[in-house]
Amino acid sequence: MSAGYDTLRTEWEVVVGLETHVELGTRTKMFCGCSTELGAPPNSQVCPTCLGLPGALPVLNELAVELTVRIGLALHCDIAPWCRFARKNYFYPDQPKDFQISQYDEPLCVDGYLDVDDPETGELVRVGIERAHMEEDTGKTLHVGGATGRIHGATHSLVDYNRAGIPLVEIVTRPDIRSAAVARAYVGELREVLRSIGASAARMEQGQLRCDANTSVRRLGEPLGTRTETKNVNSLRAVERAVRGEVERQVVVLGGGGAVKQETRHFDETTGLTRPGRSKEDATDYRYFPEPDLTPLAVDDEHVSRIRESLPELPRERRARLAEVLGFDALALGQMSSAGVLDLVQETAALGADPVAAQAVWMNDLAALANERDLEAGELGVSAPDVARVLELRADGALSAALVRQVLTAVADGEGGPDTVVEARGLRALSDSGELQGLVDAAITANPDAVASIRAGKLGAVGQIMGAVMKASRGQADGKATTALIRSTLGVG
Ligand code: ZN
Ligand code: MN
Repeated sequence: MSAGYDTLRTEWEVVVGLETHVELGTRTKMFCGCSTELGAPPNSQVCPTCLGLPGALPVLNELAVELTVRIGLALHCDIAPWCRFARKNYFYPDQPKDFQISQYDEPLCVDGYLDVDDPETGELVRVGIERAHMEEDTGKTLHVGGATGRIHGATHSLVDYNRAGIPLVEIVTRPDIRSAAVARAYVGELREVLRSIGASAARMEQGQLRCDANTSVRRLGEPLGTRTETKNVNSLRAVERAVRGEVERQVVVLGGGGAVKQETRHFDETTGLTRPGRSKEDATDYRYFPEPDLTPLAVDDEHVSRIRESLPELPRERRARLAEVLGFDALALGQMSSAGVLDLVQETAALGADPVAAQAVWMNDLAALANERDLEAGELGVSAPDVARVLELRADGALSAALVRQVLTAVADGEGGPDTVVEARGLRALSDSGELQGLVDAAITANPDAVASIRAGKLGAVGQIMGAVMKASRGQADGKATTALIRSTLGVG
């Protein structure tokens, strides 16, 4: 029986290293001029080079090199003054050349680190980065005719080479991660870094950031155990679940006197468990050798210095600075940061809005709306000045809390700025007008039982009258003003 992840950690230590593949935000592929744009019809963004046709030669994408150096510097790596590409040979239909151009023993970036906060202890964890190297992405296969979408049971397979040749950086950590929660935090922080330096949009749901988790366990104080590699874990939540699931499985195996087999495994989102894939190849199976079609790459010091100077403030430093300016704690800042709204909250506050109110609108109203629409909050078409204006109207009592969401939704729908929406829809909060008094009077008349309860001292029944007023005003009544008016009309409180 499994002891469960949290219990077993009193006896076992979790050891995780992550390999993360990042699609760089270049407009063209790594070794040809084909577009990297997502969503095009299958095989419409291909050419002889990325199809691996005989005689086609690769030409290195300069921007991809620059973005890789940016990643290396942001992760405190050394940038190799000279490095080479290597051929990684394997036969698989998603790679039309039957080899992948990658880097092997001479990566561009080596020996860095990324600091993350351990969500369980609040302590700082420095995760060592062994290397960050460049390589090209593979195509995508689609297995048709089976029940599961896997190759097993399929009648035939289709392949789309639009993704083949998109520039990737593979970032490999040292086995420094000691929990599923830190594994998740690392990927979240890495995603922030990649976005902040403009290296990648890093949208995990679109496969722009994909993780492989090397996981092993050992009894406390013992040498490293055998690891397994769980492939393509594609959301922050999945990273944490995949590690937990794999740790529990390995402890059951080892606890029963068995041995963990070194292999590739796949994470199943529905069960939260991993299942075996192929046995893990050794590096020798790939018959790496230097890529003969590309010259060595030498990024000179001066160029590296220029890139270093152009790096923006990194997310961690930024959060520390904003913690002081805005008065939020690290947890709240981390949440805003991973929701992608920290800049927007900060900008909204800089326009005079109360930081807490700005945070609430971006993290609650707009994040929920973005979620419904499968967008990031920053992509809704609502700007910081829009939110600042809505909060101003709210603070003046011109908008009720219920109307704030309605106005912002209309702004996101392209109905214009907040003032235009309020005007066009006639959305003014009824606060101290005679109209509000009329609605209160009507609600009191219509709810004699509630009135009797209030008069008998059960003030909770005010809510019932309030609900009737809200309904009659279609959300335009201001909550505070209405409560006060109900009480004064009934002569209580
Ligand atoms: Zn191409
Ligand atoms: Mn790789």
